[in-house]
Amino acid sequence: MQYISTRGDAPILGFEAAMLTGLARDGGLYLPDNIPQMSHDDIAVLHGLSYEEVAFRIMYPYLGESFSDDEFRGIIARAYEGFGHAARAPLKQLDQGHFLLELFHGPTLAFKDFAMQMIGELFQFSLKRSGQRVCIVGATSGDTGSAAIEAFRGLDAVDVFILYPHGRVSEVQRRQMSTPTESNVHALAMDGHFDDCQARVKDMFNDFEFRDAVGLAGVNSINWARVLAQVVYYFTSAVALGAPHRKVSFTVPTGNFGDIFAGYIAKKMGLPIDRLVVATNQNDILHRCLSTSEYRPDGVIPSISPSMDIQVSSNFERALYYAYDRDGAAVAQLMDELARGGFSVSQGALQALRESFDSGHCSEAQTMDTIARLSATTGELLCPHSAVGVHVAEAQRDPAVPMITLATAHPAKFPAAVEEASGQHPPLPERMSDLYERPERITRVENDLGAIETLIKEKRGKSAT
Ligand SMILES: *Cc1c(COP(=O)(O)O)cnc(C)c1O
Repeated sequence: MQYISTRGDAPILGFEAAMLTGLARDGGLYLPDNIPQMSHDDIAVLHGLSYEEVAFRIMYPYLGESFSDDEFRGIIARAYEGFGHAARAPLKQLDQGHFLLELFHGPTLAFKDFAMQMIGELFQFSLKRSGQRVCIVGATSGDTGSAAIEAFRGLDAVDVFILYPHGRVSEVQRRQMSTPTESNVHALAMDGHFDDCQARVKDMFNDFEFRDAVGLAGVNSINWARVLAQVVYYFTSAVALGAPHRKVSFTVPTGNFGDIFAGYIAKKMGLPIDRLVVATNQNDILHRCLSTSEYRPDGVIPSISPSMDIQVSSNFERALYYAYDRDGAAVAQLMDELARGGFSVSQGALQALRESFDSGHCSEAQTMDTIARLSATTGELLCPHSAVGVHVAEAQRDPAVPMITLATAHPAKFPAAVEEASGQHPPLPERMSDLYERPERITRVENDLGAIETLIKEKRGKSAT
């Protein structure tokens, strides 16, 4: 399997190299040059298999020759053994025909663990084999960073630097990044918003001298291996509700468009998905773009669902690539326009996007109402992101098709908003109940590329000594 860039002008790579690289050298994102197909029968036999076995069958065709059967099965087993639920991604019924896919039973209580735990194992395996060393730099609105630090802490061949917007992540998110004691992981609190953090990370990748000097690797949701790991739970949940014999729809709380794009890949592989609904909070650029064709960032307004406070949605580029019929030059041009303020999607491409995606948004008040209402009617405490999804799903639902809303984080990750809305304090699971007592270690950095690069050069590699 070969991987090509959405901008059509970067080296073609195999799975392992694309995974270790992250961002393509032309600024684009890697995609497989063809999408493996699951037939009706291939999907039907997934029924009743373990999450790990489904993960193997979905992901293996994308790996090329990178790993043997047994090696990859071992990687999957290790990735998910630390999850707090035997089903890994259990489905709960909320209402007639409406289901919640709980993706928050991993070690840092957000869906990011599904991909990050997997990528941690994959990196470790690859780097051990090659003797290489890499420096992972990532931007986070809270959950990617905690999941990455958890997945890579203590690994010999990896340094991890996570930029997060100072003062704009929840206390649990911050503590999950700042309390691991291993010296190879670093939480960097940067002045600015998530989009600023993500922009500095992209700058580092485009600074080839720095990139090559430190062996930069990316694990943001632009990393194809992460998207791929997320395809799996679309299959397990749809099959649990009767696929391939009947269609299901999904609503996905969306920020960087990685999670919902995994659903799009599942559909392209042959999973009978009726609708994929993009749910945004008040930072609703994706909803506006799908409604009006205009993609123009106009500043982030902090919300109670901070992991979706994003205006420059990286993985949307992958959807645009398909909507523009795989025309890398057209995508490169849109991204140039974006750097100068925004772009409008062509009529043909907009139509293609709308064939795959619906969208809706949810205000802060509606988010709070949804948490309160679902707590009262179902006993389910939703995190604010999941509540955004549930609100949009309820508004858009076709009663004839089961709807699965992705619950992207555990309510205890956002206790203040959940308690204010529901009157109930969501407790942390037992296994991390001492989080508030552990000492923190944070480095403050300015929103300045040179300063950040210097800091990384100084601190990296210390873990080896
Ligand atoms: C990252 C995140 C999202 C958004 O996912 P994308 O893949 O960036 O669209 C939603 N909810 C939570 C809790 C998250 O951590």
